[in-house]
Amino acid sequence: MHYHAESAIVLSVVGQPVRAVANCGVFFGKGTPIYDSPALITTLELGRQVAETPGDQCAVLMRGHGAVLVADSPERVLWLGVNLDKTARIQIMASTLGTVKAHTDEETAAIVAVEAGANAFEGRLLEFYR
Ligand SMILES: [Zn+2]
Repeated sequence: MHYHAESAIVLSVVGQPVRAVANCGVFFGKGTPIYDSPALITTLELGRQVAETPGDQCAVLMRGHGAVLVADSPERVLWLGVNLDKTARIQIMASTLGTVKAHTDEETAAIVAVEAGANAFEGRLLEFYR
């Protein structure tokens, strides 16, 4: 999925990855990579460059442009996209008040273990559509 979430654009232009600053951001706990170009993706080669940027992660910020997310279903990628935007907005708001304390790797892993369950995912999806 590709979109132009303003929160992702803001973080990308200051070179800050989205981090797990709230529970909704645990799937970005390693910090989202940043594709360092505002270019429109109009060729296969540019598409390959963006596709290779996330590595083993599910999201990449595109500097001054937006974000790309990958998942194994449309429902999951939509859920990730909503949470990327929500997490980025929380990170931006928190940073205006002071130093942002992100979750530790251990805190992130514990929450991912719960969130990754099918029931948790379906519950969040239902919550989103209400
Ligand atoms: Zn675009």
